[in-house]
Amino acid sequence: MEKDASDPDPSRQRNGFVGVLYGEFTDMLNDRVRYSVSLTESALTIQRISSSPGRTKVVFNLTDCVGCRAYRGPDSADVGAYFTAYFYPFKRRWMSAGVTRQRVEQCFRVALVQDPLANLQEAERWAHAIRDASARQAPRRDGVAYMEVRRPCRIMILVNPQSGRGQALQLFTGHIQGMLTEASVPYTLVITEHQNHARELVRKADLSQWDALVIMSGDGLLFEVINGLMEREDWQEAIQIPLGILPGGSGNALAASVHHYSQSPPAWNEELLLSCGFMLCKGLVGPMDLVSVHLASKQRLFSFLSLAWGFVADVDIESEKYRHVGAIRFLMGTLVRLASLRVYQGRLAYLPVKEAPKLSKGSFTTNHPPSTPQHPSLCSSLPCQFIPNTSPNQSSRHGTNSNHNTRTNSSNNAITTKRPQIESDSKTRAPVDSLLPDLDQPVPETWTVVKEEDFVLVLAIYQSHLAEDLWTVPGAMADDGLIHLFYVTAGISRPALLRLFLAMEKGAHLACSCPHLVYEKVTALRLEPITPQGMITVDGEVVEYGPVQAQIHPGIARLMCG
Ligand code: ADP
Ligand code: MG
Repeated sequence: MEKDASDPDPSRQRNGFVGVLYGEFTDMLNDRVRYSVSLTESALTIQRISSSPGRTKVVFNLTDCVGCRAYRGPDSADVGAYFTAYFYPFKRRWMSAGVTRQRVEQCFRVALVQDPLANLQEAERWAHAIRDASARQAPRRDGVAYMEVRRPCRIMILVNPQSGRGQALQLFTGHIQGMLTEASVPYTLVITEHQNHARELVRKADLSQWDALVIMSGDGLLFEVINGLMEREDWQEAIQIPLGILPGGSGNALAASVHHYSQSPPAWNEELLLSCGFMLCKGLVGPMDLVSVHLASKQRLFSFLSLAWGFVADVDIESEKYRHVGAIRFLMGTLVRLASLRVYQGRLAYLPVKEAPKLSKGSFTTNHPPSTPQHPSLCSSLPCQFIPNTSPNQSSRHGTNSNHNTRTNSSNNAITTKRPQIESDSKTRAPVDSLLPDLDQPVPETWTVVKEEDFVLVLAIYQSHLAEDLWTVPGAMADDGLIHLFYVTAGISRPALLRLFLAMEKGAHLACSCPHLVYEKVTALRLEPITPQGMITVDGEVVEYGPVQAQIHPGIARLMCG
C-alpha cells in the first residue's frame, strides 16, 4: 500500500484520466461510515468520508489483487448488496524483520437505491471491473512473454498426503482453498494414494479437461507428473500444460525457486505457500527447461531440478527419516553426513556453454550438437592437457581433450519469447537428445573432461534453489537453457564444506573462494561412478546407480510463475 495522488473526480475520465470507476459506498458493518472508492487501471483507492481532518487514503495495487466477489447479504430484508476485493500485498512481518504477502480484504455495501436487484447489479459491475483491471495488471519480466492460463480455468490439484510432515492436505485447506475461492478458480482435488499414482494418472488423463496441473507436495510428486506427461504418445502437447507448484513437502526446491524468480523477498513455510498460492491465482505461465537423463539400463527420465551424486544425494536420501521435522531435515542430514564425510570416485565430463555473444531474444546459448563422437570415452584413460582456469573460483584442475573449453563467466541472459521447436524421434516420438552419444560411446571432442576423479559431490541443477533455504544458483532462471554444474573435489575439510552450505542460504558460497568448489555452465554432462556403491538422485528421487548422462531441452515445459 502506498499513498497516491489519484484524483477520484469522474469528470476527468472524459478528459483522458486513467480512472475507470468512482463510487461512494458504506462500511459493511456500519452504515454511517462511508467511503469514496475509485478504481483506475492500476489501483483501488479508498478514502473514508468524514468531517474530521487528516483523512487517510489507502491505495491497493491491483497487481496484489486475486479477485473480487459481489453478493447479497444474508438478511433478505436488506436491500443492499456487497462486493469484496481480496488483496495479498507485501506487509511488514509482525514479529520479525522483512516483508511478506499478507491477506487483506476490502468489503463495501452498495445501497444506492431501494431496489435490491439494482444494487446487486452495481456491486457486480464493480466486482467485474476490479477483476478485469487486476488481470490486466499482471507482473511481467523483461523480455519474457508470459501467457495467462485461460479463464475461467479448470485446475487439477494433486496432493501427496504423505509429503513433508504429512500435512499437505491440512495446509491446502488452511491456506489455499479460500484463496482459490476468492480468485474464482475452479479446481478438482486429487489425493494420491501411493507412489506413482500421479504418474499413472497424468499418463492416461484426458488433458483437454484441464487448463493446468498443480502439485501440492515436495518436488517428488512433480517429478512423477512430468515423467507421466513425457511418457504419453502426445507428449509434445501434453508437456505444454501449465504446471504449478504449492510447497507441501520437505524438499520444496521448485517452490522456493519460483518464489525467487518473482523477485519477492525470501519466504519460508506458510509464507512461501501463500506466495505460491498467490502466483497460482494470478495464472501467469512462463517456459521451463527440462533435462533429459539417461541411465545405464537405457531408461530415460525427465528432470526439472537436479541430478546429484555424492554428498548432496546422500543427504537428501538419508535425511528422509527426519521428514517429520520438515525442511530442516537437510541441515540435520548435512551435519550427520559431515561427520562421516566420504570421497566418491568417478569420471565427469561436460559440454561447456560457449562464451555468449550478445543474444537476441528467443535464442539460447547452447553449443551445437557434435556431429560424431570421435574421442575416447570417459571410461578410457586420457592423456589430459592442463589448461589454466579463468574463473576466480576455479583452480587449474581440468583436463580437456579439446581446445573448446571456453568458460562462460558472464551472466547468461538467454530468454525465450517463443516456444522452441523440439525435434522428436519418429518412432518413439520422444525428444531427440542431439548432444548425447550413446552412454557406451566416448564423449565428443567438444566436451571437457574433468581431470580429477575423487569427488565429494557432483550436482547439476537447473533452478535457483536446491531447497527452501539453499540458494544454490544465484543467476539461474527456469528457462535459462543451462545446466548449472557444481562439483567439490576431495581434500575439502569438514568445516570448509559446512561453510559452503551455510553460505548457500544467502547464495554466497561462490564468494567463499573455496579451491575445491567448481562451477560450470553446461548443456550436457556425463558422470561415470567408479566407487561401486552410492546414491544418485534425480529431482531428489533415487535412481539406478551407475553411468548417467543428461542434456538440457530449453523451455519445453510451462511453469506457473510470477
Ligand atoms: P517430500 O518433499 O516430503 O519428499 P515429495 O513430493 O518429494 O515430498 O514426495 C515424496 C515421495 O512420495 C515421492 O517419491 C513421491 O513419488 C511419493 N508419493 C506420492 N504420493 C504418495 C502417496 N500417496 N503415498 C506415498 N508416497 C507418495
Ligand atoms: Mg522429495
